[in-house]
Amino acid sequence: MATPMIELDRVAKHYGDQAAVAEISFVIEKGEFIALMGPSGCGKTTTLRMIAGLDQPTSGEIRLWGRRLNEDAPWERDAPLVWQSYALFPFLSVRRNVEFGLKHRGLPAAERRKKADEWMERLGIGSFAERGVDQLSGGQRQRVALARALALEPEMLLLDEPLSALDPHLRVRMQSELVRLHRELGITFICVTHSHSEAFAMADRVVIMNEGRVQQIGAPQEIYRRAANRFVAEFVGGNNILAGIATVQGDGSIEIAGPVGTVKAPAPTEGAIAQGAAATLVVPADRIELVPDRTGIGNEVAARVVTVEFVGSTVTVFLETDGGGELRAQRSLHEIENTPLVVGQPVVARWSPSQGFFLPG
Ligand code: ADP
Ligand code: MG
Repeated sequence: MATPMIELDRVAKHYGDQAAVAEISFVIEKGEFIALMGPSGCGKTTTLRMIAGLDQPTSGEIRLWGRRLNEDAPWERDAPLVWQSYALFPFLSVRRNVEFGLKHRGLPAAERRKKADEWMERLGIGSFAERGVDQLSGGQRQRVALARALALEPEMLLLDEPLSALDPHLRVRMQSELVRLHRELGITFICVTHSHSEAFAMADRVVIMNEGRVQQIGAPQEIYRRAANRFVAEFVGGNNILAGIATVQGDGSIEIAGPVGTVKAPAPTEGAIAQGAAATLVVPADRIELVPDRTGIGNEVAARVVTVEFVGSTVTVFLETDGGGELRAQRSLHEIENTPLVVGQPVVARWSPSQGFFLPG
């Protein structure tokens, strides 16, 4: 197998007896857009800082093209970092900020200026070149920080919550600009975010972390459709997590009895579920249909509408089942407009058994 661009090999970072990063291993290929995603305090920034060379691992090895990187100083690595706070120099103009790294590298003034102009133009901040960065909006500052990092023409770009200081509408626009930049430049992006929608919107692969450990690595759709464990299933949202007692059927499929009643699901692809064992079934909310009456097809659970939550073009319908359990269904706004739902209304929640999957353990 070819040497991957970046390898984290059992990398850990301890502060006293606390593990900011417990022991993580994964590889990043050249040109990938990787999102490191997880809740606050899970070790994302620490991981990024170790890749940038701002922190040294307590143990384990970080390799770039197969070569140990642990002891290399930040400026010896071709990996500039763009911060949430941008870390720009407020007393310098936009141009001087963008030129900063190039000057540090000893590039002659004329070349520096040419490169800075190119990148300011590319990021749409050319007309602010002489302004102080303290006279710019959040979105403009973000572009200055990106231009400053990209002017170095690095092999990889590290981004720590780059969009979280922006207004929601601007955030969505910058998301697609980052994706476009990444595609045009063909360099590796490693972006830290606590937002699953941001990670899923931008990244080729997502590394989900919790409490200093990697929980799952995969393409957004893969993670969304097949959470590896309970933490991921809850963190990415939109899942029903149903606990119950399993009965193995003659055909190997499983019936699970719990608060929402008895429902069917395929046997897990890995590991077996024993007769009578406690099991946890995940049913994605967007796989649950709402029908007026039982149809005899698939899993059907009688329920009542508790809340209807409008989330733009999708609608989340919270249900209480007749057995006292809870379910949520995610439907399109279009569908709810055609068949309005009233709080208290009885409905049947229906889904195909094949859409459910068991969590391991
Ligand atoms: P994230 O970026 O995912 O929010 P961090 O990597 O910043 O998380 O932090 C992970 C954990 O390590 C947190 O519990 C944090 O308090 C701790 N930590 C980070 N940096 C230091 C430090 N310099 N000294 C002590 N503890 C730290
Ligand atoms: Mg952080």
